[in-house]
Amino acid sequence: MNLLVTGGSRGIGRAIAMRFGAEGANVALTYMSDEEAAKSAVHQIREQAGEQATIKAFQLDVRKSEAVDETIEAVIQSLDGLDVVVNNAGIMDNQAAAMMSDEAWSRVMDTNLTGPFYVCRSVLTHFMLQRSGRIVNIASIAEDGASGQANYAASKAGLIGLTRSLAREYGPRGITANAVVPGLIETEMIEEGDDRLVDYWEKSCPVGRLGTVEEVADAVWFLSRRESSFINGATLRVSGGLDAAP
Ligand code: NDP
Repeated sequence: MNLLVTGGSRGIGRAIAMRFGAEGANVALTYMSDEEAAKSAVHQIREQAGEQATIKAFQLDVRKSEAVDETIEAVIQSLDGLDVVVNNAGIMDNQAAAMMSDEAWSRVMDTNLTGPFYVCRSVLTHFMLQRSGRIVNIASIAEDGASGQANYAASKAGLIGLTRSLAREYGPRGITANAVVPGLIETEMIEEGDDRLVDYWEKSCPVGRLGTVEEVADAVWFLSRRESSFINGATLRVSGGLDAAP
């Protein structure tokens, strides 16, 4: 199996890359700016995956349409094919809607929604030729609405709409598209955020804790297996049973 995961240099993306590597997959991960983190991820995956596997990092800004096409082509050449694409790269820029800058709106929408569209569009041609492929998009429970996150919530709701549309359009061609919808997960993205969110989560989540990156990676692996070919257009929540952001 050959995997491409965007934003695989750290956090959830890195855990996804690690999981697929441990399962014997060839892995291409992308990063945006932190080359050192990407190199260290490649090194770590290689240690688990063994010498046979191809593990590579590619610099990519998913907001750039041409760069996406070029990177997908390079990944296919480098891994000698592609089976699974995980749109994981994503950002937050929280501001009250009434005060939100054009830049904050556009940057989040471009990264979290338009970027995954470019990636999907680019891989679909390849997937259609081979009459198989798995797309897994990393959304968020914020898709249902989140105070102070109008841009982020809208981008993730849009990503689910994109996923379900692809499921209908390309299911007949042997391609599945599903979304994993994490709750609050322990990553750097959260460390940079508001402590009150962590408090809210620990008090309100039925399981009483934040999720781990490995738990999200496990859900992505499940949806990507050959045996999951009848799961299409699904949104798989990894949220400990709490489905509402504050
Ligand atoms: P991190 O902030 O830890 O990592 C983000 C990754 O995306 C990095 O590899 C970063 O690269 C890359 N990236 C950022 N901007 C771009 C861009 N324009 N083009 C390409 N790559 C880019 O994120 P998390 O692991 O926390 O989150 C991963 C995904 O999971 C996101 O989509 C997020 O919305 C979603 N999610 C996270 C939750 C959480 O609690 N953490 C909860 C629900 C959903 P670099 O470091 O090089 O800049």
